[in-house]
Amino acid sequence: MNKKRLIFLGPPGAGKGTQAKILADYLEVPHISTGEILRKAKQDGTPVGLKAKAYMDRGDLVPDIVLQELVQERLQQEDTKNQGWILDGFPRTLFQAKFLEKLLPEINQECDLIINLTVADEVLVGRLAKRAALEGRSDDTEEVIRNRLVVYQQETAPLIDFYQQHLVTVDGDRSLDLITIELKSITKKDFSN
Ligand code: AMP
Repeated sequence: MNKKRLIFLGPPGAGKGTQAKILADYLEVPHISTGEILRKAKQDGTPVGLKAKAYMDRGDLVPDIVLQELVQERLQQEDTKNQGWILDGFPRTLFQAKFLEKLLPEINQECDLIINLTVADEVLVGRLAKRAALEGRSDDTEEVIRNRLVVYQQETAPLIDFYQQHLVTVDGDRSLDLITIELKSITKKDFSN
């Protein structure tokens, strides 16, 4: 079976995590959410979690060096080496994108597809507030939500230009099912040649 490697970009609240999980099941590849890995590390009180906590609670980005080590290790585990991966929430800065661009050829991997899930800001605030009520995440208070959106615009949105030619843009302001159908069709086209 061909390995499939995808990057998922998009602002917080765009539905990246949900769609990345569905697509990972569909394509039978590991779903790598750096946010989930960091939340787990925080809960378990590991050294990485302790380092990340204050940044995450404020809605700021965890320092690049922490992510760099975490992703480098995760992409070389057996499951990702054999099946591929969907990266959800990484890269989030130009530094991380450049790091990944350098790392992949070094470990004999290549990214096949970069998907950018777009949603307007007003819609995002409403969605994040709803998720806060449902999941009780400590980084989903209104102040932190606003900061996460500012951080996204400053640090992550520039990646859209960085990846410009390779990017497939998907409108995330539709029903979950419609978005999934489009994503499946994009990946099917891409992975059938
Ligand atoms: P997420 O679940 O992807 O929204 O991530 C939750 C939080 O984890 C973010 O607000 C950041 O504090 C941290 N985080 C996740 N991925 C990254 C990353 N690639 N770079 C820096 N911080 C990250």
